[in-house]
Amino acid sequence: MIYLDHSATTPLDSRVLDAMRPYLESDFCNPSSVYRAGQEARRAVEDAREKVAHLIGARPKEIIFTSGGTEANNTAIKGIAGLHRKGHIITSAIEHPAVLKVVKWLEKHGFDATYIGVGQDGVVDPDSVRQAIRKDTTLITIMHANNEVGTIQPIEEIASIAHEHNIIFHTDAVQTAGKLEIDVDKMGIDLLSLSGHKFYAPKGVGCLYIRKGLKIETFMHGGHQEWGKRAGTENVAGIVGLGRAAEIALAEMQEEHERIRKLRDRLEAGIAERISDVIFNGSRDRRLYSICNVCVKYVEGEAMLLNLDFHGIAASSGSACTSGSLEPSHVLLAMGISPEIAHGSLRFSLGRSNTEEDIEKVIEVLPPVVAKLREMSAFPRKSAP
Ligand SMILES: *Cc1c(COP(=O)(O)O)cnc(C)c1O
Repeated sequence: MIYLDHSATTPLDSRVLDAMRPYLESDFCNPSSVYRAGQEARRAVEDAREKVAHLIGARPKEIIFTSGGTEANNTAIKGIAGLHRKGHIITSAIEHPAVLKVVKWLEKHGFDATYIGVGQDGVVDPDSVRQAIRKDTTLITIMHANNEVGTIQPIEEIASIAHEHNIIFHTDAVQTAGKLEIDVDKMGIDLLSLSGHKFYAPKGVGCLYIRKGLKIETFMHGGHQEWGKRAGTENVAGIVGLGRAAEIALAEMQEEHERIRKLRDRLEAGIAERISDVIFNGSRDRRLYSICNVCVKYVEGEAMLLNLDFHGIAASSGSACTSGSLEPSHVLLAMGISPEIAHGSLRFSLGRSNTEEDIEKVIEVLPPVVAKLREMSAFPRKSAP
C-alpha cells in the first residue's frame, strides 16, 4: 500500500513500539502503587511527560495525558466554559469536529458562540477575531493547522489579541505537533491539544497543555491521577509511546520537513502538469508541508478514492471523519468553494514512510483515473477537459 493519509492517522514507528513493549509485557504495574515496580512505571510516565513538554516548550507539570486529541479539546473547552456557566466563545468555521461540536453543544447549554469565517485561502484573519470579541468572551479557540487543507493559522497574533482582552486562548495543534516548531510561551498559548497517533505514537493517547496557574473545571472525576485534572489509571504504555514519539519528532523535524515538502511539491507539480481543471486548495505560503488538497473538477472525490485504492493508494477526500457522508467538506465550503467543486476534493497527506517512488506512482495512476471518470461523468462539462 502507498499510504498518503497521514493526517488521518500514522503507522506506529517501530522505535516507539520498542519503547512501549516492556510496559505491555512485563512492566504492568500501576504508577500509583508504592512498591518498587509501581514506582518504575511512575518514573516512565514522568519521563514521557518531560519529553512531551519539551516538544512544545512547556514544563512537565503543565502536561496532562488524555486519550487523544478529542478528549484534550473537550477538556480544554468545557473546562474553561465550566468555570463560567455562561459567556461567549470564539472559534473558526474550519475547526475539526472535536472543537466545532463541543462549541455547538455549549450553545445548547447557555453559551453564545461566534464562528469566524476564512478567506479563499483558508486562513483566519486576526482582525475578524478582534471584532468578534465581546465583554463576556471567555475563550478563543483556533486550530494551529487545518487537517483538510493544511493552512497554518496566525495563532500568535490571535493569542496576543486574546490576552489584550484577558481572554484565554486554546489551540488544537493535533496536525502540527511533531511537524512544526511549537513554543507555547513565545506563541502565547494557554491551552494546547495534541494527539499521539498523528505523529507515529499509538491511537488512544494524547495530551492537553495547561499553562501554569490556569484553572479549568475537571470533567473526568475519580482518582487523583494527573493532579486531579484527569482521573483514571494512566495508559502507561501509550504515554511512554507518546514520549518516545515526541523525542523522535523533535530530533528529525527539520530533516523531515525538507524531505516531505519536496515530495509534496513534486506531487502537486505532477498533478498540475497532467490533469486539467484542478484547483489546489489552501494558502500557498501559510500551509503545512505534508498536505496536498486538490479539487478535480467534474469528478467525485469518492470515485477517485476507490480507483486509487484499487491501485493500492490510500488517500482521502475531505476528512476521515466526514468521508462516508456525502456532505461536502465544511472547510472547503467555508473557503467559498462551490459544493459541486468541493465534491471533487482529494487530500494526500504525506509522512515518514513516503518515498519518491510513491509520489511518481500517484502521478502515473491518477491522470488516467480522472480521464476515465470524466468520460463517465454525469457532471455538465463547463470547459473542455
Ligand atoms: C485527528 C484530529 C483530532 C482528533 O484527535 P484524536 O486523537 O483522533 O481524538 C482533533 N483535531 C484535529 C485537527 C485532528 O486532525
